[in-house]
Amino acid sequence: MRLDQETIERIKQAAQVADVIGDYVSLKKKGANLWACCPFHGEKSPSFSVSPAKGIYKCFGCGKAGDSVRFIMDIEGLGYGEALRHLAKKYSIAIQESPLTDEQLQAQNARESLYIALNYAKNYYQNNLFQHEEGQSIGYPYFKERGFSDKTIKAFELGYSLDIWDAFTRDALKNGYSIDVLEKAGLTIRKPEENKMFDRFRNRVIFPIHNVSGKTIAFGARILKADKNQPKYLNSPETEVYHKSNILYGIYQAKNAIRSKDVCYLVEGYTDVISLYQAGIENVVASSGTSLTLEQIRLIARFTQNITVLYDGDPAGIKASLRGMDMILEEGLNVKLVVFPQGEDPDSYVQKIGSDAFVQYITDHASDFITFKAELFLKEAGNDPFKRAELIKDMVGSISRIPDSIKRSVFFKKQQA
Ligand SMILES: [Zn+2]
Repeated sequence: MRLDQETIERIKQAAQVADVIGDYVSLKKKGANLWACCPFHGEKSPSFSVSPAKGIYKCFGCGKAGDSVRFIMDIEGLGYGEALRHLAKKYSIAIQESPLTDEQLQAQNARESLYIALNYAKNYYQNNLFQHEEGQSIGYPYFKERGFSDKTIKAFELGYSLDIWDAFTRDALKNGYSIDVLEKAGLTIRKPEENKMFDRFRNRVIFPIHNVSGKTIAFGARILKADKNQPKYLNSPETEVYHKSNILYGIYQAKNAIRSKDVCYLVEGYTDVISLYQAGIENVVASSGTSLTLEQIRLIARFTQNITVLYDGDPAGIKASLRGMDMILEEGLNVKLVVFPQGEDPDSYVQKIGSDAFVQYITDHASDFITFKAELFLKEAGNDPFKRAELIKDMVGSISRIPDSIKRSVFFKKQQA
């Protein structure tokens, strides 16, 4: 689809460079320009500058530079036309949408066609939840039982997949999507040797996974009936637009609150994120199913330097995630931990005590990582001198990862006390 020059000008006018980039990183004013750590390459001190007067950005580390349209092309991996369309949507600029011709469809790059198919699927599942009898009688009551309001369900674009082998695939094919794209988007599974194709998600409630700018890039899906042969949660496979180690569930809905509260709460599950969000605690994301990765930490670091990890009271789970904490320290971020009472997770606990008491609990119980780790292991070591020596070595190892020497020495002193 071609946009006329007048529309392009209007889009470019509306899409002020600082505002567009501010969706992806926290910009800080210094002199005439705004600065941030570059979203295109890993760095700990800002070399990415934005000039609102000139309408351009430039990274002095990796050399990426351009205007707001170029930025969207680079960070979302879109072509020129799709980047303009993305901005038109953000700034509510009406564009004439004519049906695509075959040549135009061909011209779309591979990533774009995946985004379009995933968006179609998201709408389809959402429609099932609100319009289809099965969605209304099976999917919708599940979310209601979890205490989610319609507003929350819509904010996270939750949906439902029917208990039919190929309902989605047939619908999408009928609407002009190619089987190739559906397969590459992780939506349809093909068994060519048996001449079969079927939907990846069936008879499950659907949690769309969004990237930072709100595009649907994958799905998590929870089973509703007890079936030992089926996993409780099923996720999209890795695709060209979905790398699970690079993304955090809820980051799109949370980013502005993370920026304004200057802290990011990290939880484990989709429903923890959604429950806290509904309770008005919006600065929360989940690593959902993977142990925390460097890319995920850097994604948070675009918006804040402070992470508070909220654990449910399971000691095995806590130990398994200590490595992730070391990585946060290594990136120069501040990390605190909160453990909830036995048998509670953030979801259940916020529903039990309400949001004010919940925030107060976090404030009262957040301990820094080093203190937390010392307490956890000292309890185990008891009076065993070998175990205690091992522990001290371990603590020193953690502290030495902190890149800032002043912060490091504070922790060393604390640890010797
Ligand atoms: Zn850079």
